[in-house]
Amino acid sequence: MSILSVKNLEKKFGDLTVLKDISFDINDGEIISIIGSSGSGKSTLLRCMNQLETITSGTITIDGKTLVETKNGAPVYAGKDILKEILMETGFVFQNFNLFPHYSVLRNVMEAPVCVAGVPKKQAEEKARELLKKLGLEKKADAYPCELSGGQQQRVAIVRALAMSPSILFFDEPTSALDPELTGEILSVIRLLAEDHMTMVIVTHEMQFAQAVSDRVIFMADGVIVEEGTPDELFLHPQKERTKQFLSHYAD
Ligand code: ADP
Ligand code: MG
Repeated sequence: MSILSVKNLEKKFGDLTVLKDISFDINDGEIISIIGSSGSGKSTLLRCMNQLETITSGTITIDGKTLVETKNGAPVYAGKDILKEILMETGFVFQNFNLFPHYSVLRNVMEAPVCVAGVPKKQAEEKARELLKKLGLEKKADAYPCELSGGQQQRVAIVRALAMSPSILFFDEPTSALDPELTGEILSVIRLLAEDHMTMVIVTHEMQFAQAVSDRVIFMADGVIVEEGTPDELFLHPQKERTKQFLSHYAD
């Protein structure tokens, strides 16, 4: 079953077209990596899924609900209630963690379930503690973000996203603000989620990781999908010159 379907998505900032005719589907339980140089439109694409940007035209459907479709050339967004439902089903993990600095770890994790989804506090706390334990953070429940390492902060951000039981989780370069020795700790968490068959879209520069963990890989350049395929197809037998060129920067 398709959890995310994007059709002919176009996004302009003024005269600048940053996403052109983007179409792809993600099935339940699939793990997709998106790779591509800086400025190719990866973050903008994710921000369109997260309702942080409005699209110029195209269709986005998440878990059977139409987020936006295009009628007579103009994007038509779903009503407020549907938009909220969709937002609650999509989890996001950003490069810079984006935790609330003045909230404890536990409160960071409980905030959305209690205040957005209306989950009773006790139930939200139980789930939060369970998830913190799963990600090895049970002793940090009362700590504040500034008392944690970057890797721990990012794990809290992942727990916070999971606390809403999303049907799909988006990561935008989750390790690029981390020292190399902390990167591994986040990649293992993503591997753990992969074992649980969490549906994930991961924008990353960690090519070996993308190759190992993904079901499919999408390569973007200048706002278009240049090539997509299985990790073997894309990394070992790229078809397009641009893909070969991009990957050559990562060859050792
Ligand atoms: P990536 O994540 O692949 O590095 P981005 O999605 O951040 O790429 O950016 C794609 C293009 O869109 C870039 O040319 C960037 O400068 C432009 N862009 C991103 N956000 C904005 C914005 N708010 N206003 C104008 N241009 C933007
Ligand atoms: Mg980006």
